[in-house]
Amino acid sequence: MRILLDNFSKSFGATKVIENMNLQVAHGEMLALLGPSGCGKSTTLFAVCGIHRPTGGRILFGDRDVTDLPSQVRNVGVVFQSYALYPHMTVAENIGFPLKVKAMPSADIRKEVDRIAALVQIGNLMGRHPSELSGGQQQRVALARALIRKPDVLLLDEPLANLDAKLRLEMRSEIRRIQRETGITAILVTHDQVEAMSMCDRIAIMKEGEIIQIATPAEMYSDPRTAFVAGFLGNPP
Ligand code: ADP
Ligand code: MG
Repeated sequence: MRILLDNFSKSFGATKVIENMNLQVAHGEMLALLGPSGCGKSTTLFAVCGIHRPTGGRILFGDRDVTDLPSQVRNVGVVFQSYALYPHMTVAENIGFPLKVKAMPSADIRKEVDRIAALVQIGNLMGRHPSELSGGQQQRVALARALIRKPDVLLLDEPLANLDAKLRLEMRSEIRRIQRETGITAILVTHDQVEAMSMCDRIAIMKEGEIIQIATPAEMYSDPRTAFVAGFLGNPP
């Protein structure tokens, strides 16, 4: 589902973090919000997911204005840097939990959990607890739990930051595969330019609360609009 930020602004007290941001993520697209620490990436993502209320502007999913809707009714799947799995539950219980709170019958939950476990390729881990999983496996479980309610949009905030280099590489292509297979519209927040370049259809480069340039990875690399963009991509003029 298309995501639209229309003149989105967010302040905390007197601190203006984002002012009049306009951004459109097309249906089925995966877009990176890329920029240095503190530039406002998470603030933007939190507003899309409904954790933060904008101080100005609108957020639309498709034609639906979700600006004033709480997170639970926006139909978003969210994965953060820390996976926050429930330690006392098995993998299957963790993944099925969002359906259990909706009081879905357990036979139906089991069917849905099996479907999503196959997609994320963790069918062999269903009886384990989170403490018995590697970082990459925990990541997959978090992704499965985010996807089980068939959300309209998938929001990822530095999802690979806690992984070692080898797992990070593996999970880059895994997340991209899963995004493509489900056709879900996704926003990936990252400060890692290689991650943004390798995983996303388009990149929005942010600096101090503003989007400096939006382009495909190839365009961004061959035609950086500013010295900041070039420098950030590791390709100074
Ligand atoms: P990023 O995710 O790009 O690293 P953030 O969106 O987390 O950046 O933060 C952007 C700016 O907003 C920072 O200066 C941060 O200190 C400020 N900020 C974020 N959340 C809050 C908050 N809840 N209260 C006050 N300031 C905040
Ligand atoms: Mg952040």
